[in-house]
Amino acid sequence: MFHEKKETFPERKNSSLDDTPVCPDNMVDKSQSASFLAFGSLLFLRETRHKASGAFCLNNKMKTILVAGAGGFIGGHLVSELLKNKEFKVKAVDKKPLADWWQKHPGVESVSLDLQDMAACTEAVSGAHQVYNLAADMGGMGFIEHNKALCMLSVLINTHLLLAAKEAKVERFFFASSACVYAAEKQTRPDIPGLREADAYPAMPEDGYGWEKLFSERMSRHFREDFGLVTRTARYHNVYGPQGTWKGGREKAPAAICRKVAEAKLSGKHEIDIWGDGNQTRSFMFIEDCTKGSQMIMNSDIIEPLNLGSDEMVSINQLVDLAEDIAGIKLKRHYKLDAPKGVNGRNSDNTLIKEKLDWAPSIRLRDGLERTYAWIYDQIVTNAPCPVY
Ligand code: NAD
Repeated sequence: MFHEKKETFPERKNSSLDDTPVCPDNMVDKSQSASFLAFGSLLFLRETRHKASGAFCLNNKMKTILVAGAGGFIGGHLVSELLKNKEFKVKAVDKKPLADWWQKHPGVESVSLDLQDMAACTEAVSGAHQVYNLAADMGGMGFIEHNKALCMLSVLINTHLLLAAKEAKVERFFFASSACVYAAEKQTRPDIPGLREADAYPAMPEDGYGWEKLFSERMSRHFREDFGLVTRTARYHNVYGPQGTWKGGREKAPAAICRKVAEAKLSGKHEIDIWGDGNQTRSFMFIEDCTKGSQMIMNSDIIEPLNLGSDEMVSINQLVDLAEDIAGIKLKRHYKLDAPKGVNGRNSDNTLIKEKLDWAPSIRLRDGLERTYAWIYDQIVTNAPCPVY
């Protein structure tokens, strides 16, 4: 069992993105020359736009935000959101080849690096003022249940990124943790109350994936306490939305169910396989709430891990009901009782995030699922690729 420890080291003074004067001169940051070559014309357009808006920022005073895992689902959306703020640059890194990234952003320095490697982390963090670590070897229950060692190896990513961030004197570091850190004994029934942040201890998280997340939370915490690196941690509860894995083995429940329902509609074979008895409960957070909340937590002064999830709890059967309703069909259900189904009940208690940020995820499951279903339906009918890695 872990024991809580008090802060022992003051956080390094952070100049937040909001209160830093932007671009007082026109000095060119030579370290970016390679990406300028690669994205020359597009970057020119973007710089011109900045100049026109009075925020021309091609100099070495401009803040850079690194998104690790930018080729993935949440990372891709986060880069999109960060780019809406024209006052800093975004650098995107992922292990996958660029062709397999869910979203590619013109004008963004996008690099393929394996962040389990220390030298790669040093390269990735170079020039960055903030780091969002969303890189992890992960997937839905079907993946994490059968790949515990791979999941735990993601510890190398966060550890090496923290070390590189400390060396580079990064101002803020965000770690994407998970509701899988919560103790198994708190999730034994479908009708459980929401999980409070304190419910992670005494520790007995999800084997493999959850232990790695809990360890990396602790590692982030101790870098803050011992080295003064400003670290922030969000515990995501099931995130869903377009532009993420929807087939191939790593997909999570909302994407898998949307795909199965869309396939049933298209094929006319009105049947569906459901993992478990369908009574297990979860909450699902739409991607827009996730990227908004992640930025709020990153820029807050909240040092403890915070739930970032919806508190609209549904059973998997209810999730299927919703998808059927959106598709306008009714399916015969086959329950796969030997398939991985995870804990019996899980929901986010949002008391703390409401208290600290006066905000919590609020996009209704029905609304987010409609958008997700429509996107997955399009992927199927257009025979779009879903990179398997
Ligand atoms: P994702 O699989 O779509 O994205 C993760 C990305 O990390 C992938 O693109 C992958 O290629 C990259 N990656 C893996 N190993 C890497 C390495 N060694 N070096 C560089 N990049 C590497 O997953 P996601 O849903 O976008 O999740 C993002 C983060 O949020 C992860 O840390 C995940 O554990 C966490 N999280 C997600 C959910 C969810 O429901 N999606 C829930 C809880 C926590």
